[in-house]
Amino acid sequence: MLKDKILGGLYGQALGDAWGMPAYFDPDQTWKAYGWIEDFLPGPDDHEVHGGLPACRITDDSEQAFSLAQAYIAHGGVTLEASIEAIVAWYDRTGGDQSRYVGPSTRRGVQALKRGDDPYTTGRMGDTNGAAMRVSVVGLLHPNDPMGAIEDAHISCIPTHNTSVAISGAAAIAAAIAVAMRDDATLDAVIAAGMLGAEIGRQKGNPWLGPSVTRRIEMAVNIARKGGEPRAIMRELYDVVGTSLSIVETVGAAFGVLVMADADPRQTAIYAANLSGDADTVAAIACAIAGAYRGIGAIPQEICAKLDADPIFADYHVPQLAEGIERLATKSS
Ligand SMILES: [Mg+2]
Repeated sequence: MLKDKILGGLYGQALGDAWGMPAYFDPDQTWKAYGWIEDFLPGPDDHEVHGGLPACRITDDSEQAFSLAQAYIAHGGVTLEASIEAIVAWYDRTGGDQSRYVGPSTRRGVQALKRGDDPYTTGRMGDTNGAAMRVSVVGLLHPNDPMGAIEDAHISCIPTHNTSVAISGAAAIAAAIAVAMRDDATLDAVIAAGMLGAEIGRQKGNPWLGPSVTRRIEMAVNIARKGGEPRAIMRELYDVVGTSLSIVETVGAAFGVLVMADADPRQTAIYAANLSGDADTVAAIACAIAGAYRGIGAIPQEICAKLDADPIFADYHVPQLAEGIERLATKSS
């Protein structure tokens, strides 16, 4: 059912984001501090970005994704104006100028937008993973329509991440989710859609330096499918694919943990969190795909209940967002 997949994508995004939030930048550091992360945990006090956050708290990834969903529903679809409105409103609401949570491309883009610059120029150097962390809703709006998802992923990137490498990463995720929405989707088809989206997205935007997202997805999937002890696979993903703010690394790693977990949302979150690095973003992306693929029924009820009980998550009224997305998705298909 479409609604179950939309809810799965939205709750999956939040599950991964909040689950990965407490992870440190390096797996050894995470494993030393926590052992093996198997639940929602608070941000450790010495964490550079997430120190002091309570367990089960979402971060910028889901807040921006849900803000985009609100704006696209209000505007009747994905437009440049709605994308700008959502990102600037989110930035102001979270005190962006002082906030630790704003990524480098988003900060540069929003500050240029506020100066009144042409939005087709404000993202011309944005090459980090913010483009992919918030794009899941674009995929949810295009069930079984990867080409439409790629076009709209491009639009969502323009204000802050208008580079070939960032659009490639965002288009990969949007296309993968669009195909994951099919009732008869297979994980192979989802991965293939991600690689197709990456390839087409790479032709768009300001030509920018960076390796191929398509090849990095392929590399991560191959590492994940080699089999073996999960910690050894994750160490290889961390060392070879990478989990930094680079969108090429983030998107590749997300497909790696997705395949390791066979797209089970909770298991995907466990692998992504323990993989460390920009874990909340890798996990948010991977779990959004997993949730859209498996549907809301694959996310344990107590996880959804914990998210619903968090005031920041509750403030986005995710079940209402799912209704709005379903309305739009069935109108345009
Ligand atoms: Mg984050």
